[in-house]
Amino acid sequence: MSTASRDAWLAAVRRWKLHPDEPADERLWAPELEACSRDELHAIQSEKLVPAVQYLYEHSPLYASLCAACGIEPGDVTGREQLADLPVVTKDDMSRSLAAAAPWGTYTAIDDERWLTDGWQVFATSGTTSQPRPFRYTQFDREMWTWADARAVHAMGIRGGRDVGMMLFGYGPHVAMWGLHHALIHIGVPIVPAGGLDTRTRAASIDRYGPTVIGCTPSYALHLASVMRDMGLDPAASPVRVVIAMGEPLPESSARRIRDLWDAEVHQFYGCTEAAPSCGGYTCTAGSVHFLEDTHVLETLDPKTLKPVAPGSPGVAVVTNLISEASPQVRFLVGDYTALDHAGCACGRTHVVCEGGFTGRADDMLNVRGVTLFPSAVEDVVRGFAELGEEFQIVLERRAELDELILVAEPLPHVADDRHEELTLRLEGAFRARLELRPTIRLQPYGTLPKTEFKAKRVMDRRE
Ligand SMILES: [Zn+2]
Repeated sequence: MSTASRDAWLAAVRRWKLHPDEPADERLWAPELEACSRDELHAIQSEKLVPAVQYLYEHSPLYASLCAACGIEPGDVTGREQLADLPVVTKDDMSRSLAAAAPWGTYTAIDDERWLTDGWQVFATSGTTSQPRPFRYTQFDREMWTWADARAVHAMGIRGGRDVGMMLFGYGPHVAMWGLHHALIHIGVPIVPAGGLDTRTRAASIDRYGPTVIGCTPSYALHLASVMRDMGLDPAASPVRVVIAMGEPLPESSARRIRDLWDAEVHQFYGCTEAAPSCGGYTCTAGSVHFLEDTHVLETLDPKTLKPVAPGSPGVAVVTNLISEASPQVRFLVGDYTALDHAGCACGRTHVVCEGGFTGRADDMLNVRGVTLFPSAVEDVVRGFAELGEEFQIVLERRAELDELILVAEPLPHVADDRHEELTLRLEGAFRARLELRPTIRLQPYGTLPKTEFKAKRVMDRRE
């Protein structure tokens, strides 16, 4: 296969890898990329998009067939203006490709030869709804991932010479936190690995080794704090000053709860396996959720028509990956809802701000008696109640042809039984006011719901 399109693509990516080893200044890693005008940013995106489309078209049979179905040839794309004309690639497209061409599918640009000569690591989607989709990433991707995520952690105010990181995940095939791991090392922050350790051992390690930055899912940050308190350790008194939350939506009331329990700043990392390397989304010290727009293009589309929504309106996220050798996906439908704001940020960055962060994937949306809501909206209500513990469940049942939403929650041990009735009434009121829904509240003894060890499983849909 011709290497010309790959050479052109990788050269374009390398050309814009500015300040590869260290930040240009204390505030911004690469001011030319992060604080440039929108026109300059679009020019950078165009310069990368054109060879990306050519390369992906030549190296991914799935992508070539999707383009052919829309009557598009790579030469039709001369810049970012044509992005909206290109086909949207879905998880279903990838799953079908995987079924037809196991074990790797044809949705990436990597063949066996490239994998054997320049391969780095396989990452796979978690496969909760379908077969896990594998992605073979390369050494080139590792370099780009490290650099892009280093810029993200720099934006969070994390620094070598001051911080120590601890990554609370299993070091398995899921992308979550691998990028963070490499990025922290790149900026000179040493790592205490915590893969394979149980929660009590992790809690003891925090007490013993004193990491200042921990990375985990928001549910796990709450669970770990509760285990620490059970062990007589106070998370707020620990040296942890930053919690990087990832892998789940983070409603504001959950962020507040983590902030209070740990007496720490809460930051977010956001991304997906398909459009790695690099997280794409990250928070700055001003608290905005940004997207790294010189490495990815983020669009928001109407979920039904797949046409772009107006700026500021909520839509489903579609990502174009402008830095990967293995998986330079063009218009991959990630499916999380967000709304985009291009007005700039107090931190000085001109990169897009995702208002309200990412509220959840479209396939996670619940429909209860015609009311659509995300589990994260329920979480936002629950976390507003200081009397409730960190675990809760949303159970959906159908009774007499009607959907019923049952919230199962655990009052903390110090909340006396005679306060449960009043607590139930207040919870019902909060649900009606916020979600226009009257749930059944079921309070049960603290510690009886399953504990979250990685990502929380909150929804039990028993309506089928
Ligand atoms: Zn900002």
